[in-house]
Order: sequence, then structure tokens, then C-alpha cells
Amino acid sequence: HPPSPPIAPQPGIMDIALYEAGSSTLGARSDVLKLSSNENPFGASDKAREAAVRATHAMHRYPPTDHARLRAAIAEVHGLDPDRIICGVGSDEIIHFLCQAYAGPGTEVLFTQHGFSMYRISALAAGATPVEAPERERTTDIDALIAAAGPATRLIFVANPNNPTGTMVPLAELERLAAAVPQAILVIDAAYAEYVGGDYDGGAELAGRLPNVVMTRTFSKLYGLGGMRVGWGYGPRAVIDVLNRVRGPFNLSNVALDTAEAAVRDRAHADHSRSENARLRAWLAAALADRGVPSDPSHANFILARFADVQTAEACDAALKADGIIVRKVGGYGLPHCLRITIGDEASCRRVAHVVGQFMARQA
Ligand code: PMP
Repeated sequence: HPPSPPIAPQPGIMDIALYEAGSSTLGARSDVLKLSSNENPFGASDKAREAAVRATHAMHRYPPTDHARLRAAIAEVHGLDPDRIICGVGSDEIIHFLCQAYAGPGTEVLFTQHGFSMYRISALAAGATPVEAPERERTTDIDALIAAAGPATRLIFVANPNNPTGTMVPLAELERLAAAVPQAILVIDAAYAEYVGGDYDGGAELAGRLPNVVMTRTFSKLYGLGGMRVGWGYGPRAVIDVLNRVRGPFNLSNVALDTAEAAVRDRAHADHSRSENARLRAWLAAALADRGVPSDPSHANFILARFADVQTAEACDAALKADGIIVRKVGGYGLPHCLRITIGDEASCRRVAHVVGQFMARQA
């Protein structure tokens, strides 16, 4: 039981379960392989690291409040209108702004059964009621979301690709959802969009065209800047104006801003990270399937390994830990028979396949 606060917080706050981040240590072991937080195994671009060091010279100055240079760089790379971009402390903060501005007591925030945990946290923090819609075969079910929406629904969060399942739905389906629930803003959380490839734009075109669609993106995944905390959102001018009113003026540091700008401009590092991920994701999924551990086709930088039951998943997690490998248990997402494994570099993927293979051989 959590301690009782001396002065009661707003209703809903004590219903928030503390976010459980993927751990990075295993006792005193030095050969730990952390595959629990979907980080880029190649790290950040050298250019981003150099920009970070340069930016420290200005640490006595407040950062710009308008993020103009970073927004211009993002807009250039993605072919977007910079005036419709907002930057935040990770995409987490954009999710928070959306809930602060659009949700509140008496309203509902809708998301999917195995959806990212921040949606619930931010909805409760805003005093709103979180509502979960069922998924079908670990994939977003648009009809179930439409059925779960009501007059009090203000926000619908759909991660596409989804975390922790790695699955995704076509943009036409998301457009159908936005049209069916005009009383709410559909937030397409495209944290993993960079890994999809092809012509997937993360929902940018929808967010540019429709009055009730916002897209969120992050520098934490493909750009390898999870520790720098930079994310952004794109949407209708009127919505971005609303979000800017709840945003703190100096939410991003000089270092974060300059680092992210250099990162988004380094296309070579981004392309290399994307293509290596695609190659190794296919390799690891096939290697695990060969060893009796299936996964759904993933479009992100992780796969959701599926076991016969909860007990086997936990035993495999223990076997991985014994070998110094940390993956993500996803019982909190309602998937206790699965383990989410970030795609590392080639040696890491081979190490995972080897340990899981040995484990499965012992099960047989
Ligand atoms: N959305 C999804 C679906 C995620 O998986 C994550 C990272 N775990 C985020 C948003 C938030 O990422 P960040 O705040 O680092 O941008």
C-alpha cells in the first residue's frame, strides 16, 4: 500500500500505477545486454553527440521558447509545416499536454487493451476516466474502439506500430476511426514510425488534413536519444495552439534542442539504423520461430516473443537474466505469456537466439 498523502490529491491520482521502466542492471554483472527499452543499439549519431557538447557552452542561457530551429529541421526532413509542430520532453510530454488540455473530470480517454501505459497515467493525472477497448489477435481493433467511444470521449490514443505488440493497422482504418468519433481527437502515436519503411508517414498526412487527428513522434527510438528526452507532435493549427498554452516555455534544454536538430539532419545514421533493424528483426523472428517461439510480424524495433503459458515465459526470462540479458516482461500490458525483446546489433540478436534456443531445448 502506498503511504497516505497528508493532503488528498485530486481524484484519480492515487489510481496511477508508477511507470515501470525497463531496468538496466543485473546486480554487479558487467556484461549486461539491455534489450528492455527499445533503444537504438548503435547509439546516437556522432553529429548529434558533437552538437550536444557544443550546446553546453550556452548552459547559462535560457533556451529558446519557440523551438524554431528544431521545428524547421523536422519540417524540412518530413515535408511538413513547421507552424504545426510542437516539441516536448519526449513524446510522453506531448501525450501529457493532450490530456491536460482536452481531458478532465467527466471525460473519457480511450485506448487499446495492450496500449502504451502512459495513456492511462496521463488520463488519470488529468482527472479523466481511462477506457480500454479490446484488441483482436494483439492488433488494434478499429471497430472495438468505435464501439467503446461515447459522447464523453475526448481523446483516442492508437500507437501505430503498437507497443508492446509491434503490430500496425492501415492508415485508412485510422481515418475511418477519426471520422466515426468526431467528438474526439485521434492521436496517432508514431513513436516507431521510422522503423516501418516504405511510404508510411506515421499519420502525418492525416494530421495535416483532418481537424481531429494529431500525430506524435519521438527522438528516443531510431535517433537513439532516449536519454535526451525530445519528442514532437503535428496536427491542426488550432490544436497545436491549444497545446502550446499548456506547455512550459522552457520545456526543452539548449542541449536537447541542438542535439535533436543534428540528429534529424543526419540521414545516414538514421538510414543505417533503420536498415539494420529491419534485417536483424527478420533474422531474430525467424530464429526464435525455429526454436518454437513465435511472434507477430513486427513493424518496430522489438518483437513480442510468445510462449505456451505464463510459466514458460517467466522461466525464459529467468534464463535470459542468468545469461545477463534483460528483456521486458509485459504482464502489466496484459500479456504475461509474452516477452518483449528489443532488436539489438547482430551479436546481441545471436546471443538472444542462442539462450532462448538452449532454454527451449530444455523444455522439450
Ligand atoms: N509512445 C510509445 C508507443 C512508446 O513506446 C514510447 C516509449 N516507450 C513513447 C510513446 C514515449 O517515448 P518518449 O517519451 O521517449 O518519446
